[in-house]
Amino acid sequence: MPKANPRHPDFPIPGGPELRAKGWRQEALLRLLENVLSVGEDPDNLVVYAALGKAARNWPAHRAIVKALIEMDEDQTLIIQSGKPVGLLKTHAKAPLVIMANCNIVGQWAKAEVFYELQRKGLICWGGLTAGAWQYIGSQGVIQGTYEIFMRIAERRFGGDLSGRFVLTAGLGGMGGAQPLAGRMAGAAILCVDIDPERAKKRQQVGYLQEIAPDLDTALAMIDAAVKDKRALSVGLVGNAAEIYPEIARRGIVPDVVTDQTSTHDLVYGYVPKGMTVDQVKSLRDDGQGQLMAASRASIVEHVTAMLDFQRQGAEVFDNGNLIRTQAREGGVANAFDIPIFTEAYLRPLFARAIGPFRWMALSGEESDIARIDDLLLEMFPDNRIVTNWIKLAREHIPFEGLPARIAWLGHGERTALARRVNELVASGALKGPVAFSRDHLDAGAMAHPNIMTERMKDGSDAIADWPLLDAMLLCSSMADLVVVHSGGGGYAGYMTSCGVTVVADGTQAADERLDHALTNDTALGVIRYADAGYDESFEEIAAKGIGHVKV
Ligand code: NAD
Repeated sequence: MPKANPRHPDFPIPGGPELRAKGWRQEALLRLLENVLSVGEDPDNLVVYAALGKAARNWPAHRAIVKALIEMDEDQTLIIQSGKPVGLLKTHAKAPLVIMANCNIVGQWAKAEVFYELQRKGLICWGGLTAGAWQYIGSQGVIQGTYEIFMRIAERRFGGDLSGRFVLTAGLGGMGGAQPLAGRMAGAAILCVDIDPERAKKRQQVGYLQEIAPDLDTALAMIDAAVKDKRALSVGLVGNAAEIYPEIARRGIVPDVVTDQTSTHDLVYGYVPKGMTVDQVKSLRDDGQGQLMAASRASIVEHVTAMLDFQRQGAEVFDNGNLIRTQAREGGVANAFDIPIFTEAYLRPLFARAIGPFRWMALSGEESDIARIDDLLLEMFPDNRIVTNWIKLAREHIPFEGLPARIAWLGHGERTALARRVNELVASGALKGPVAFSRDHLDAGAMAHPNIMTERMKDGSDAIADWPLLDAMLLCSSMADLVVVHSGGGGYAGYMTSCGVTVVADGTQAADERLDHALTNDTALGVIRYADAGYDESFEEIAAKGIGHVKV
């Protein structure tokens, strides 16, 4: 039985033992599609997160996808082109059930303006990373990544945690909404600015944000008190980051850590320029795109100038993956790239070992299934400090949204071992239903994104998109259930290509084989990608785990 969804009553949360499709593999993908809408930001318009990241091209396309998933046999493959199903063809039971290509535009044409025009004509939609691939699990999906970044900063600069430290950030949307909780879990007093009061309220309702301050003075006083008491606290403030950041700088206050997760990547559908309301922006989206782009960029210039100011005064400042530096540089801030990107600054040694955000969703809808898998993780990886620390924290702090799910940073071999054990638990009836495994597209072999994931690679291979394409082909050859290739849409047009994968543990022997091949090969390619770029950690991993790397 689906569960009521208080946030979006028309989009119930899937679950229960009854199948509508002909098998659990198809049913699983259907439930994941339903789930991304149930936890999405604007499901009425199929928007899941990141301003424009959509689950399907339009409602007729969505209905056709649902019909196909319900009616298709296990030996067929559904083909989806930018959120629209275009074919249901006979393949074989070991082939993917769904393959997708979302928003891939030929190089010279891959520009925001071209994307908007194609979107207006109904020819394309952007899938974000996890929206179009039906893998999004709400703000919980990014929270460990955000937490790990805060902890790396804490270890390097602040003696191990962020207690007594002021973190300033902005953006309380689908992904940015994880920041207040991640900050609090790291011990910080974190101030999160968002222009849209509804987004702040939403994060408070789901338990990610504690307080909403009525004005900047009150917000700063609350933060100041928490810093003095070394008390973890998250405070939201409704306002424009392009005004609030410079105002904090003008007052001579220097936070310890500064970042931003507003949708700066999209100057039309994402960022709200200074002096405008959300509704004013909406009214300009069709006819005033040029005006909106110029105004957004001018505001981002002020926003980033304040961030650079904080950096000069000693704050730890980083780009959290939203192209904010790129937009500012285009607007004339020549030194915007003095701000480092989080991947290179904090996470690359993990990615070089293909340790990255791996996630699983309990298709039964039962939280007890996730609790059982949490126990399993602690049993299987007692010496993995990142995992054990994370699971204990996640259990205590993270409320479930939509289908109960968990994310944990696991690497080569670990993902496969966990998923195969889970498949056994499904088979034995120890879990109430099958479990779907996927990972973020921001993963070792899965993404080329020269201003985010692959910035300043050791060998200069930042912009080479062969890796995610190879990953997708390898995953199709390795029996994954869903394989997708995405490129950037909106302001991300031309900036990235990534690959996503989902594999369903339905307790069968065939699922065991699929999980083994797909998850093992996915991370193997990730390690090989970094070895190819010359990272020592990758060579160690290849030697330790016997990965089939061909050295030329
Ligand atoms: P979203 O569109 O759901 O939310 C963006 C939020 O920014 C909204 O709440 C909006 O009201 C607010 N906002 C816009 N302009 C503002 C302004 N001038 N001042 C204050 N608030 C403003 O997007 P999201 O899913 O939260 O993603 C945010 C950004 O992070 C995107 O660019 C996305 O691509 C990027 N991202 C990074 C990672 C990562 O791994 N680091 C992961 C996912 C997304």
